[in-house]
Amino acid sequence: MNRPLVAILSGAGISTDSGIPDYRGPNGLWRRDPEAEKLVTYDHYMGDPEIRRRSWRMRRQNQALDAEPNAAHLAVAELERSGTAVRVITQNVDGLHQLAGVPGRKVLELHGTARSVVCTKCHARGPMDDALARLDAGEEDPPCLECGGILKPATVMFGERLDPVVLGEALAITKACTVFVAVGTSLQVQPAAGLAGVAADHGARLIVVNAEPTPYDDLADEVLREPIGTALPRLLRSLHDEST
Ligand code: ZN
Repeated sequence: MNRPLVAILSGAGISTDSGIPDYRGPNGLWRRDPEAEKLVTYDHYMGDPEIRRRSWRMRRQNQALDAEPNAAHLAVAELERSGTAVRVITQNVDGLHQLAGVPGRKVLELHGTARSVVCTKCHARGPMDDALARLDAGEEDPPCLECGGILKPATVMFGERLDPVVLGEALAITKACTVFVAVGTSLQVQPAAGLAGVAADHGARLIVVNAEPTPYDDLADEVLREPIGTALPRLLRSLHDEST
């Protein structure tokens, strides 16, 4: 059976059309602002209640949870619905692939999700919306309702390790896929960069869709520089047509 498996590796660039800026990339907002970076750095967050209060205030003001999927997210979901085997590996924490319609089990979130919170003590999880509702009700640093532990967004903060299970699944998909599309990622940060190399080493057709050059362009079978919102839907339609 030579059923194609399309792996989509997405980075911040796929969500900028949805109004979400690049926060954590090499040139992202957080990296350019040391005070802002503290809000998403594990040791600062755990060690300083004032950092936590500021971090919660920032999340409450942040509009990311209101963002809508754009044409690129919808094109990925459409390819998945059309019967092509699709897996998404994403560096984003915005949950927009799932909102666009890709089943959650087919999306690997390397950096976690900003739509959930997790307790740093008992690891209980809950919706971010519920935690933000507690802020609206006057709490400044809402503790875990199960055990009183410090609650944090279910994103991987600076200074935290990536989930080895998620990473292992991402690697397995990368080795198994026939087409690997890296979209909206500079491919300068691990593990995303490494995955592109692994895909090429294992014989996948490597396609890079990114406005700026990446270190893997020379290795890629195809490089698309056009805006993601038009380039990705067109690319995915052609992949679908090839596989039918
Ligand atoms: Zn707890």
